[in-house]
Amino acid sequence: MSGITLALSKGRIFEETLPLLKAAGIEVTEDPETSRKLILGTSRADVRVVLVRATDVPTYVQNGGADAGVAGLDVLLEHGGANLYQPLDLRIARCRMSVAVRDDFDYASAVRQGSRIRVATKYTSIARQHFSDKGVHVDLIKLYGSMELAPLTGLADAIVDLVSTGKTLKANKLVEVERIMDISSRLVVNQAALKLKREPLRALIEAFSSAIPE
Ligand code: ATP
Ligand code: MG
Repeated sequence: MSGITLALSKGRIFEETLPLLKAAGIEVTEDPETSRKLILGTSRADVRVVLVRATDVPTYVQNGGADAGVAGLDVLLEHGGANLYQPLDLRIARCRMSVAVRDDFDYASAVRQGSRIRVATKYTSIARQHFSDKGVHVDLIKLYGSMELAPLTGLADAIVDLVSTGKTLKANKLVEVERIMDISSRLVVNQAALKLKREPLRALIEAFSSAIPE
């Protein structure tokens, strides 16, 4: 493949990457919400977009299934991001990684030094690091979705999850008790591609860089 393959996930990352692509002179010619295609053409014969799960973007780029891609910091931290060149914080798909508990749960007492807490999350690596930094013993329960349910059913004391407006937490009588980190999406580039396709990738990084919001 001599052209450039970009890995994006459907939804907010795809939508919020469109203006950056436009700045690079690239218009995606198909709509992923109506098309069932997983490979989308663009206005540039040498650029195509592959649609993958958000958590699969680093894997595609790392292994050369795509030359570059856009992935959330959450996904990159969980994945490890080894061998990925991460030249830009694109400041898109912004949210935060937080700890939330039931509104009647005494979090301050639960995290006293040397205590133990049960935490349900999709982000086990970030959660493990966070509680280890605090000196709190944690029993991690890996979930793949609907984290909010865990404290309500007694599965866990707390959750570690992405929060943007906080509406979902509120609707489920949960409160955000700690902000772990701010999250946004990054451009990731395959190291070998950076050498072999240096010019078009340099141009892409340059154009994206000039169009980052705020
Ligand atoms: P799915 O929702 O299809 O199960 P996903 O959660 O992996 O998959 P998205 O919801 O599209 O995929 O999230 C992609 C990225 O966008 C996340 O990795 C995160 O960085 C960011 N993100 C997730 N939720 C929000 C949010 N509520 N507001 C802003 N950015 C978010
Ligand atoms: Mg999601």
